[in-house]
Amino acid sequence: MNSSRSLRTLAPRLPTTGISRRPRPNLTHVAEYTMSPYTYASRLLGVFSRQQHRHQSTTTSSAPSSTSRSTQPETRNENAKISCQCGTVTFPASIPKPLAVYICHCTECQKQSASAFGITAMFPAEGMWPLPKDIQPFLGKWVREADSGNTLECYFCKCCGVRVLHRPILPDGTAKTMLSVKGGCVEGLTLEGAKHVYVRSALVPVPPEDVLEVPGVKLDQVVVK
Ligand SMILES: [Zn+2]
Ligand SMILES: [Zn+2]
Repeated sequence: MNSSRSLRTLAPRLPTTGISRRPRPNLTHVAEYTMSPYTYASRLLGVFSRQQHRHQSTTTSSAPSSTSRSTQPETRNENAKISCQCGTVTFPASIPKPLAVYICHCTECQKQSASAFGITAMFPAEGMWPLPKDIQPFLGKWVREADSGNTLECYFCKCCGVRVLHRPILPDGTAKTMLSVKGGCVEGLTLEGAKHVYVRSALVPVPPEDVLEVPGVKLDQVVVK
């Protein structure tokens, strides 16, 4: 497939192999760890070091203190936190809340989520991409063509397999300015104001007032109860 070779060049910063410059985490310890996966992964990988420093006061040492865990800057970054199921892939979003949330009933999202629908939270790529270098070795990439003609780079955690985000690439090879983060990976996400899309293949009742009008899709095709 020559397309996969050319697509790989679209995201040269993200390795497609499991090569890592540091030892991979022992996942048996992840499950036993008493702190949250988010805290564990951020300390293990140093993902939040830059953001922490930005939010620390000038009188606070930038070096984490081992004696003041209750004041760890875990909650100081106001941006949304994104994490996979095992916590290995954990990083901050670009802004506190997504610009939009979509509940997608397309058959691709049903397959991807292994469930009735997928949830997508839209975040600006700026401030978030490229992802922190420390987590890049733990991300795998699968690429597929979208109905729109764009190419979708689909990133997943190599440890737990959870799909984390999608990065749409336009036909001319440039990336869109938004990243689609899978909703379940966004900590504290609410579905307030979320819009339903691709409702033709919905497996569950959908409130018609929450359906995003899409050309070619009539409302009577919506599953309503
Ligand atoms: Zn994971
Ligand atoms: Zn979908």
